[in-house]
Amino acid sequence: MFRHTKIGATIGPSCDTVEILTAMVEAGLDFARLNFSHGTYETHAAAIKTLRAVEEKAGRYLAVMQDLTGPRIRLGDLPEAGLAVKDQDLITFNTSPKFAASEIPVNFAGLEQSLNPGERILIDDGRVEVTIEKISGTNIIAKVIQGGQLLPHKGLNFPDSVLNIPALQEKDLADVAFGVKHGVDTIALSFVKDAGDILALRELINKYSDGKERPIQVIAKIERHEAVRNIDSIVAAADGIMVARGDLGLELLEAEVPLIQKKIIDVAKSAGKPVIVATQLLDSMQHSRRPSRAEVSDVANAVIDHADALLLTNETAAGDFPIETIKTMAEIILLTEASEYDDTPLPKALAGGVTVDVAITELSRVLAEEVHAKCILAGSLTGETGRRISHTRPTIPVMVATEDKRTARQLNLSWGVAPFVMLPCKSIEEFVNNAADYLKQKQIVVPGDRIIIVAGEPVGQAGNVNLVEVREIK
Ligand code: PEP
Repeated sequence: MFRHTKIGATIGPSCDTVEILTAMVEAGLDFARLNFSHGTYETHAAAIKTLRAVEEKAGRYLAVMQDLTGPRIRLGDLPEAGLAVKDQDLITFNTSPKFAASEIPVNFAGLEQSLNPGERILIDDGRVEVTIEKISGTNIIAKVIQGGQLLPHKGLNFPDSVLNIPALQEKDLADVAFGVKHGVDTIALSFVKDAGDILALRELINKYSDGKERPIQVIAKIERHEAVRNIDSIVAAADGIMVARGDLGLELLEAEVPLIQKKIIDVAKSAGKPVIVATQLLDSMQHSRRPSRAEVSDVANAVIDHADALLLTNETAAGDFPIETIKTMAEIILLTEASEYDDTPLPKALAGGVTVDVAITELSRVLAEEVHAKCILAGSLTGETGRRISHTRPTIPVMVATEDKRTARQLNLSWGVAPFVMLPCKSIEEFVNNAADYLKQKQIVVPGDRIIIVAGEPVGQAGNVNLVEVREIK
């Protein structure tokens, strides 16, 4: 059975061997995320090498996503056992490296300039909550609303503040240089606030790239309340979007997250850009072979929302059952996609309006349904045609032939697209013949089957889709 919704996994100590990753790919893994908030350059370089070896062995394209840390604000050094704070205590944070023994260090110089009395700070996934009483120099004086243990280096969220800080921090600059050098396919930017953050990352990628390879794609992680407000311009500027529900659930009311997930998926889908739903999808499978029923429902509902991809985080990076987790997710996706609840009408036209290529890609889905085609076959240099067909959410596979490995890998983030690499062709006839041979060899079609061709004439030029036709496999 063909699975349309893609599966991503975060790589970590629980799954970084060739054997485990091969089993994960066999179970359905489509792309791998390297979280640069953890690990070292040595561990990331080793993971990329392993992923490329697994890809070669499995004969399936596997996108590598570098996930930058961004402006993650954390507590500084504290005693290992932590510091207990009680409801109504007045506590003082200090953003300066020179802090008194009674103060709680925070790792972000200048943070206080974006904060105001009355605003909340959530610490350690919201376990501790404080309200700011006063700002004095680099001190933030706050009253504890929900007490608990302040542990060293735990993250801080600011649901009421507008933080005037760029998404790219000093560590990220070096990390991007590393990512470009090691050939990652996409870079995810954390704590994006607006389109300017995306443009800054693109500039940085261009600075480090030699221009010989297809551009690395930029994925905007939506996890700040400011980003939700700026979603249209962020989607327009980025190549893809991630609904990073971990932080989003702290920055907004938790109850809002399911609706915001739907809204972000809609905006990204109508722009024809892949959208990934991340975090806590099968969280309990970190330590259990079976997920909770609520998690199964969450995965099924993300499928019915028609997200392009679902991304596992701690379940695969640090959990006990990384392979079983992928198997479970693939099973839920397949069953859900087969149901009538997953059916989708032809979506609204792409946000840019109806151009010839948009009309052709929409027509390809309609034609495929009317003539009962086995698949849509497209040629795509940049991957854009593949993403446009994916936007129409056809029920049959979208087989996309491309000359470029990175394009093939990047297409593995897109709903329903099965990318493959093929040598350049000189004519449409040569393209159809060569691609049909591949489809027969992979047993996707047999003689007599109909397929829909989407291509551009003359061949070999990006951005000129002008042909759609029905062909019968010989
Ligand atoms: C998230 O917050 O859901 C997420 C995926 O980002 P990170 O793991 O970097 O916190």
